[in-house]
This record gives sequence, structure tokens and C-alpha cells, in this order.
Amino acid sequence: MDLLDKFDSIIELRKSLPFEKADPFTVVMEKVLSQTKAVIDGRETVLAGTNNYMGMTFNENALNAAKQAIDDFGTGTTGSRVLNGTYSSHKELESVLADFYNMDHCMVFSTGYQANLGMISTLAGKDDYIIIDADSHASIYDGCALGNAQIVRFKHNDLDSLEKRLKRLPEDAGKLVVVEGIYSMIGDTAPLKEMLEISKKYGCTTLVDEAHSMGFCGPNGRGIMEIEGVEHLTDFVVGTFSKSVGTVGGFCTSNHPKMDILRSACRPYIFTASLPPSVIASAIAAIQTIKAEPWRAEKLWENAHALHKGLLDAGFDMATEKAESPIIAVKLDDILMATRFWETLLNNGVYVNMAIPPATPSGINLMRVSISAVHSSEEIQEIVNAFVKTARDLQMQL
Ligand code: PMP
Repeated sequence: MDLLDKFDSIIELRKSLPFEKADPFTVVMEKVLSQTKAVIDGRETVLAGTNNYMGMTFNENALNAAKQAIDDFGTGTTGSRVLNGTYSSHKELESVLADFYNMDHCMVFSTGYQANLGMISTLAGKDDYIIIDADSHASIYDGCALGNAQIVRFKHNDLDSLEKRLKRLPEDAGKLVVVEGIYSMIGDTAPLKEMLEISKKYGCTTLVDEAHSMGFCGPNGRGIMEIEGVEHLTDFVVGTFSKSVGTVGGFCTSNHPKMDILRSACRPYIFTASLPPSVIASAIAAIQTIKAEPWRAEKLWENAHALHKGLLDAGFDMATEKAESPIIAVKLDDILMATRFWETLLNNGVYVNMAIPPATPSGINLMRVSISAVHSSEEIQEIVNAFVKTARDLQMQL
């Protein structure tokens, strides 16, 4: 018995996709020329599929802070946050984040994935319930799988479905509702105000994953919960440094007075090495820069609206009616068209993400474009032009 036989259907699916040369699952950035350009397969390519929303991966403040931290503290901590892996900079970053979100406490994790894994599996125990949106990120599903609670799913962004599920649960049980501010594939936002109000009506604890909104949603960049005025209904906020902050890592921030005890109970926080000091230093510098430079959020929204309008006007089938986030997704009829479109678009000089089932909701096939505050207006136009040329090359009806 070959244990890998169970993956044969995926192997067959991959083989059946008509890629001529490049493949979205094995693409290699041979050289990074700037925050918006890289060399892929020997060619200069516009990057329209990263999560570098605020343009922080080459920000000078972040670079300098990281270099200094390497000189001062070395390349890594070689240990857990609860043993040798907490340096003063880890504590400083936690306090910078608590301040950013106007919360009392913050825990920094080694990735956003681990933050969800840890918080969800630790908060909800045996006899508790976790209520999640059906289109939740894998880290939320995996957080549920790691714990012992009962899992209840409701239809994506559907208030009636959420309320129906909550009505059926025992009144006095522990209940954790987990939702995302912005959903990562389509880039749509949650009706957070109503969702959290319903959750509170049924006595639930709430956790909001704001991974895709940090820095550019709301006056202080706190996310959809700030835009919707429901910070007071949000018990835990999970976020990441791998998008707006331009590096790697995750966090959870909260006003809960007992938050700190989770440092002694949360396995994905305890049983892994902490982030290297250079990553921590660049995260602090990036967050400070995002706060000090509001033009980044403004330019990001300008780019998102321009890209959505450009593609909509050209006749593409957009996944959202308007730009709700810097994730702008175009729907394609089927997986074969998605495959051809993705590779032709790359040949036309633009890299985006091909998103297909099961990673996408409702079985849809997407060209997922995610843009940055440091894309120029010319680059946004270049992306639109490349989409139009690709459709023409493939004789697609627009
Ligand atoms: N939550 C959501 C909604 C995400 O999209 C992601 C990353 N794609 C994560 C959590 C995990 O973040 P990280 O990359 O820091 O592990």
C-alpha cells in the first residue's frame, strides 16, 4: 500500500490541465526587481498577485530596522516564546500592535496561520461550539480540527443562516463565532455589524480575522470592524504580517482580561520557535510607517477602484460588483479556460493567482488579482491591457 496513492486524483487533475510551460503551482520568481516587478521564466513581469498591499517588502525603514536587528541580535532566537524566544523586541511589537488596534493585550505568533490555529483550538474546548462561515480560510478550518469543540458552519455572509444555527445551540454552552473581515479569494467583505450583533444576541464570543484589511480599512487601519463601528463587539482580532506588513508572522489582540493565560495554554504559540529579531524589527518599522504615511491607503484604494473599473468596462465577469478590497477577482467559465487564461496572461507580462476549486467557494474559477499601494497608475493600466489582450488571444467573448 503506497500511502501517496490517495493523491492520484490530484496528480491526474494536474496532468490534465493544459499548461504549455508555466504552471501556477510551481512558478518561480527568479529575481525580484522591485515591489511590483519580478523576473519569471527569464522575462520581466508585473506582479499582480502578491499580498504586499502597502508596499512594505522593500520599505527603507523596514529594511534598515531588519539589518540593524541582524547585527545586534543575530539571525534567529532558536526557541519558543515561553523559553528562550522572547526578546524585548517581541514585547515591543506586541505593545505596538495593541496600540494600533486600541486593545489591552496582544500575542505575536510565528505565522497568521498559527495565530488562527492556536486561538481557535485553545479558546473553544470540549462541549463548546465554534460557528464559522463556510468560506473560511484553511487556517480557521484547521484551528477547528485541532481542537475538541463542535463545529457549526453557516452559509457565506448569510445572516439568516448564522442566526438559524445559533438558535439551535444550547443557550448556556460556550460559543465562538469566527468570521473574516475580507475573504481572501473573491475579496468580498463581511456584513460584520449585523453578524457580530447577532452573535452577541446569542451570547457568543467573537473572533474576527482581519488578515486582509490591516492599514487601509478604517480611519486607523484596524479593518472592517473599524469601518463598521463594531470594535466593541469584537473580542479577539487575528492578523498577519505576511500581507500589509510585508514580512511574516501573525498576532491576536484582545481586551479580554485573561488573554495572557493563553501564553501558557496555546500549543501553536508554545511549541514552535519565535520569529527572528529581524522580522520583528521590520514589522515594527512597517507598522509605524503605515501609520505615518496615509497616502499608502489612499493610493491603494485608488488603484483598487481603477483596476475594478478597467476590467468591468472591458467586459470581464467580476466576482464583486465593486472593489471591496485590493483583491479584485475575475470569474472564468471553467477550469480549462482558467488554465489557458493564466498562462497566456503570464506570457503577456502579468502574474496573477489562479484560484480553482477546492480553494475557491462555490466551485468558481478565478483570476485573483491583488494589488499594492506602490503599483503606479500606468501599471494598473498595463494589467487591464494585458487582460484584454489575453482575452483576445484566446478568442474569448467579452
Ligand atoms: N487568514 C486569512 C484570511 C488569510 O488569507 C491568511 C493567509 N492567506 C491567513 C489567515 C494566514 O496568514 P499567514 O500567511 O500569516 O500564515
